[in-house]
Amino acid sequence: MNQPEFDVIVIGGGPGGSCAAAVLARAGRRVLLLEKEHFPRFHIGESLLPYNLAIFEEIGVMPTIQAAGFAPKYGAQFHLGNASKELKFVFREGCFTEYTEAFQVERSKLDDLLLRHATKSGADVREGVTVERTTADAEGVTVEARDEAGVAATYRARFLVDASGRGNFTGNQEGIKVPNAKLKKLAVFGHFENVGLDPGKPAGDTVIVRLDKKWFWLIPLRLADAQQPSKVSVGLVMDRDELAAAKRPAEQVFQHFVDSNPSVAARMRNAKLVSPMHVTSDFSYRNRTFWSPRVVRVGDAAGFIDPIFSSGVFIAMFSAKLASETVLQLLAQGGDGSAVFPAYERRINAAMRIYWEMVENFYTTPFMEVLMEPRPKWDIASAINAILAGELEGGWRLRWRMRAFFWLVKIQAKYPFMPKLDFPRISGGSLS
Ligand SMILES: Cc1cc2nc3c(=O)[nH]c(=O)nc-3n(C[C@H](O)[C@H](O)[C@H](O)COP(=O)(O)OP(=O)(O)OC[C@H]3O[C@@H](n4cnc5c(N)ncnc54)[C@H](O)[C@@H]3O)c2cc1C
Repeated sequence: MNQPEFDVIVIGGGPGGSCAAAVLARAGRRVLLLEKEHFPRFHIGESLLPYNLAIFEEIGVMPTIQAAGFAPKYGAQFHLGNASKELKFVFREGCFTEYTEAFQVERSKLDDLLLRHATKSGADVREGVTVERTTADAEGVTVEARDEAGVAATYRARFLVDASGRGNFTGNQEGIKVPNAKLKKLAVFGHFENVGLDPGKPAGDTVIVRLDKKWFWLIPLRLADAQQPSKVSVGLVMDRDELAAAKRPAEQVFQHFVDSNPSVAARMRNAKLVSPMHVTSDFSYRNRTFWSPRVVRVGDAAGFIDPIFSSGVFIAMFSAKLASETVLQLLAQGGDGSAVFPAYERRINAAMRIYWEMVENFYTTPFMEVLMEPRPKWDIASAINAILAGELEGGWRLRWRMRAFFWLVKIQAKYPFMPKLDFPRISGGSLS
């Protein structure tokens, strides 16, 4: 067979795809990135984690990100619906947190900057091209795609990076997607001006408000100044079945829970909707495996986790960087990935497991009862702080503290030692 025209083809130009393309192209490899949309395009996922900044640095895009004027994020807050308790994490106060600042972003702008950076790095980026089929053989991969005019094209490369997001292109093609039966959620969200924010640095914090089996996010995309009001992304994540049973439009359900929860209502008193309201599925899943010979999956194309802890963009870029470094090694030394992709999968699985465990527990009452009480002992709060900032590989000092935390949650479930929380009562009741 002829020499393939590309070393690597990347499906998708989100943060995962752009990062992979930048890493590979900066190493001098011939990279083709195919993206079905034209950027800038709307995307949800607006709160970044501090550890993401290390990757921006590494791929050389940090000056561009810093110059873009994104709102700074120094911490994350958890509140109960009736405003009876709050817990504020400030990243710089965590004793295991190395990176202490992040950004809140409009994804249309961030993703566009990252995609342009992939082009500047040397990747051949083609927008408006949808990948329709991929096949792998002993020498490489064949990718069949179609542009908006309906013109089909076939490309060859030695490796394929699937960064197709929740489109999950190769995972669906191979039939290996495993949904998480417990996390069949929906998100209802929009952008609002004039939302009340904390004064000073906490103005940029992500605010999470926990209700009964659901939660709100408030992510400040723009802080108020003399010229313009604040602009905040506000979203409600709830069970698909609860919304279906309500038999009301999603916007009405959203407004019901805004009005009936003082933590949210107080902030939204003067809020004005400045975007359409969106409804999107938010079903967590993972693929049974993150690779097959010549193919590696990154970001949401490996697995998607409920976004409470804002881990999606960071995991997409973290996995993309690691997958690309593995592919660079293969391009230099030979092999189809069978020998080295398993190590990649183990590392990404370990990182994802941290957030899966946090997310599954977040929806339980004992977890919230323990989380919302300050624990000066053993620096457990600092370990949680580091996880919230994106410390994925903090070693034993974080692992034993997180294990201790989850033990406390288990003990709380059987022998409560912290004040109990009655979520139906403290979160604005039900829809019926
Ligand atoms: C409700 C909600 C809230 C969220 N909030 C946050 C948050 O606050 N912080 C956070 O970090 N994450 C959040 N996330 C998660 C975040 O959106 C994702 O984890 C992140 O975008 C993953 O990046 P990616 O590059 O893997 O995929 P994407 O960003 O989805 O990019 C995939 C790209 O692939 C393209 N594509 C797909 N199929 C094809 C094809 N066949 N051919 C060509 N192109 C294709 C798509 O057009 C898209 O541009 C949230 C997610 C949801 C659903």
